Amino acid sequence: MDRVSTAPTVTLGDRFAREFPEMALAWQAEQAPAPRLLVLNDRLAAELGLDVAWLRGAEGLRLLVGEHVPDGATPVAQVYSGHQFGHYAPRLGDGRALLLGEVTHADGEPRDLHLKGSGRTPFSRGGDGLAAVGPMLREHVVSEAMHALGIPTTRSLAVVATGRPVRRETVLPGAVLARVARSHLRVGSFQYARATDDVDLLRRLADHAIARHHPHAARAERPYLALFEAVVAAQAALVARWMLVGFVHGVMNTDNMTISGETIDYGPCAFMEAFDPATVYSSIDHGGRYAYGNQPRVAEWNLARLAEALLPLFADDEEQAIALAVEALGTFRGRYDDSWSAGMRAKLGLPDDLDHAVSGPLVEELLTLLQDNRVDHTSFYHRLGAAGGGTGSPARELFLDLAAIDGWLTRWQALEPDAAAMGRVNPVYIPRNHLVEEALDAATEGDPRPLERLLDAVSAPYDERPELDRYAEPAPDAFGAAYQTYCGT
Ligand code: AMP
Ligand code: MG
Repeated sequence: MDRVSTAPTVTLGDRFAREFPEMALAWQAEQAPAPRLLVLNDRLAAELGLDVAWLRGAEGLRLLVGEHVPDGATPVAQVYSGHQFGHYAPRLGDGRALLLGEVTHADGEPRDLHLKGSGRTPFSRGGDGLAAVGPMLREHVVSEAMHALGIPTTRSLAVVATGRPVRRETVLPGAVLARVARSHLRVGSFQYARATDDVDLLRRLADHAIARHHPHAARAERPYLALFEAVVAAQAALVARWMLVGFVHGVMNTDNMTISGETIDYGPCAFMEAFDPATVYSSIDHGGRYAYGNQPRVAEWNLARLAEALLPLFADDEEQAIALAVEALGTFRGRYDDSWSAGMRAKLGLPDDLDHAVSGPLVEELLTLLQDNRVDHTSFYHRLGAAGGGTGSPARELFLDLAAIDGWLTRWQALEPDAAAMGRVNPVYIPRNHLVEEALDAATEGDPRPLERLLDAVSAPYDERPELDRYAEPAPDAFGAAYQTYCGT
């Protein structure tokens, strides 16, 4: 019998490219001289219906760097605007990225398959269009850790070394990240559509966002206002989750805030160690605009920019449109506070219906103690839930002011916290900065093992494993203070 070729075909939709030609420029990735797979997310590949063995092969690698374009696919660079550190940039767009197309996830919902580091595009401005191995692996590790923590995020399907050198402060090996997202619609996408003065484009983009992310809005009395409210709710819940795990995004520009409510763009991000609202890791964030403690305020500010962009869709009368926008944006703080407070009660093992008059002051006092004693955020909650409890708690050793923490522990213990429930919400393992750096440096030098071990730890963050003790420890003192992360790397 003749052998039938069973080479798998990947079907990529081109819906965005077709429906939004004004915002999608057909483009090709740059050639990768020597593609080499650094990491593949087998489970995600399977969820997307992709053949893992084929992806690992020569043609699969060519897909993952953008050289193999399946029949019917139209890779595009997307255009968007954005406020960067508060300053409006009218035309940003994918300067080193391409949307390959849409795939269907096993959950029945579409996902974007997108490349980052795939070469220059007409939106590159002064940039080289490239990405280095280290930063792309950082996005892989941190986004997979966020996913394992149950926090909405874009995913990483793979990182492929290109064999092309990238010039930064030194010459580094280049890589392409294959990113999977519910979409790449950003606040900045709507800012761009609004700035064209083409209200029809703005409306089509909003309809697309409703259909793709917030379908219930279509049935509301005012669908576009309901879309805005849904984004407000999704972002309030998202940023509360960041705050509860100590995640510092680092570059919350409006082009880095999604309409879907997924975390996107892992550039200068980091997990905070010692609890301090002023924590900043990004090398360029001199004013602390995107400091840990500012993140809820910044999210609200970004959502105000989204409201401005959507204004013509809210009502014909501008004053009425503004009043509706202000009212909807006004729900952000309450939503954020509710999500965060519920999350804090869960972290402390307290019942959700506990009187706020009891839990509120207890939480406030704790945050002051954590900050004054420079206590490691992740270790504290983990140890608090560990056996012992009360003034015998292993969390106690993290404080210098023992009298103060003992007083707090006694009051907390009197509320009969549920230790088992705490273990389900307080991670043991987060991608700690010193471990991320160690893993990226080793991988860049050709040793994948530290990265594999780190991925193993953070992929099951609540599952304590004695052999991974080192992954639960804060950075050595010498590492912590001067740690910096970078944009556009
Ligand atoms: P980001 O800070 O990663 O959100 O990037 C902001 C903008 O700069 C986006 O338009 C990116 O496409 C663009 N960009 C970042 N790095 C590069 C690069 N190396 N080459 C070209 N464009 C870049
Ligand atoms: Mg970005």
